Amino acid sequence: MKASCLALLLAITLVRCSTTTAAKDDNAMFDLKITNGRVLDGTGSPWFRADVGIRGDEIVAIGDLSASSATQTIDAQNRIVSPGFVDLLSWAQYNALTEPALEAHVRQGITTAIAGEGYSPGPRRPDQLNETERWPRLGDYLDELDRKGAAINFALLVGSANPREMVIGNADRDATADEMRQMEAIVNQAMRDGAIGLSTSLVYVPAMYQSTEELIALARVAAKYDGMYFSHIRSEGDQIDSALDEAFRIGREGGLPVNIWHLKIGPRVNWGKMPGIIARIAAQREQGLDVSANVYPYAASGTALSTLAPDWAMEGGYGDFRRRLANPEDRARIAEAFRTQFARRGERGVYISQIFHAPHKQYEKKYIEEVARMMNTTVDEALIALFAESALSPRVIYFLMNEDDVRYALKQPWVSVGSDADSPNAKVRAEGVAVHPRAYGSFPRVLGRYSRDEQLFPLEEAVRKMTSQAALRAHIYDRGVLRPGMKADVLVFDPAAVRDLSTFEDPHHFSEGITDVVVNGVAVLRDAQLTGQVPGRSIRGRGYEKR
Ligand SMILES: [Zn+2]
Repeated sequence: MKASCLALLLAITLVRCSTTTAAKDDNAMFDLKITNGRVLDGTGSPWFRADVGIRGDEIVAIGDLSASSATQTIDAQNRIVSPGFVDLLSWAQYNALTEPALEAHVRQGITTAIAGEGYSPGPRRPDQLNETERWPRLGDYLDELDRKGAAINFALLVGSANPREMVIGNADRDATADEMRQMEAIVNQAMRDGAIGLSTSLVYVPAMYQSTEELIALARVAAKYDGMYFSHIRSEGDQIDSALDEAFRIGREGGLPVNIWHLKIGPRVNWGKMPGIIARIAAQREQGLDVSANVYPYAASGTALSTLAPDWAMEGGYGDFRRRLANPEDRARIAEAFRTQFARRGERGVYISQIFHAPHKQYEKKYIEEVARMMNTTVDEALIALFAESALSPRVIYFLMNEDDVRYALKQPWVSVGSDADSPNAKVRAEGVAVHPRAYGSFPRVLGRYSRDEQLFPLEEAVRKMTSQAALRAHIYDRGVLRPGMKADVLVFDPAAVRDLSTFEDPHHFSEGITDVVVNGVAVLRDAQLTGQVPGRSIRGRGYEKR
């Protein structure tokens, strides 16, 4: 390594000496140099002392660079210098276009976000386009992102719900042969637009109506372009074994790697099952199936409250669900299903975080038991009342996991981190919306709470999980490790100070301890201050063909 660094430096010197143009960079060996750091390179190796030299968007040298000049220098002051973190499940793709600073992501050290959980920004049918979903093709979104820039990089998966909605809508039925051909062509186009793979979110309409065979056919299209398959699997509870089996089968018959999003198990009656789940995945890996997972490091999940409703009641979507509530027979069955759910979840498992129906605002940020008391009724009736009057499903935080299960999953070497969160924008912060703390703290929490404080694994392993291991799961080969020739996504953080501050009760606090964030060679955070730069760009899959 030393010899090749030297050779590279020599080569740069030669190029520099032979160039006589008077651009400002010509006087300096590097555009940016990070000095006095302890380098954790992302491979899992313990730190070593070195400087990092960056030219353009690339790391060009690592070692003692004290003799080389640089246009800008970051003095790491003995802190850790590591690759930027890769978030395997981000929801910041929309805010990226309106508030590109993405402060909550940046202050967690996220430099690359993988987005498109089951549903991607484009493609859509022309008649389905609206203000927020305005991209007829997935490539239209990526082009817009490249035009506007964002603080961090984005890669997109094409959601299986996109072609389903475009061709069949929300109906609960199998696709015909002709519809299959249309959906395959849509996925094919998305892969050529630069999607990095196919994604599914199989608990939501309409993806829940897609059969395993349908998903295998779509996966095969993604596989042609070196794509991978990411999935919110069909069950994270009682049916998790069959849900995992389905994901394994899609990987095997589709011919692509599988990544399980937010691997978890609940509710209370299923606590303690994580070791068995891990063993099942490990057995597949032993047989040669490339299957891995990611988690957000919290024992509670956050989603739409309508996920409590039975599948049959959700057919056609949330609107149809509300119509069924008006039918006494359906209503009784739904209430019964809710009562069964509560018996299995225990007390204080359902926390109503956000309500979009103004007259119900007083029930926000309360456990459903408190809401029921306020309404002077039972929990199942309280739930039905919330749904019956809200045109949009309320949001919920489910306290459904066991901390030991979370830890057991997190410590597996092939498990990375996905925040499963948007980077909250100014409006959400000003209104104090009860967002899940993972939006602010996922990555620092792994460094601080789980690695440093609980010693679940060493710091170099925490960094490896969130850098090289995560980048490889997205088939991104030029990020995630600090090496000459890699893209310059680099962090500086204080390992003693890094910590998450956001809580369920008081979520809107940025994480601390990450002082400098460099994306494609440009600092977006310097000395813990945002710089306002937007060097982030789209990262496109191997099928990408420029239009
Ligand atoms: Zn999900």
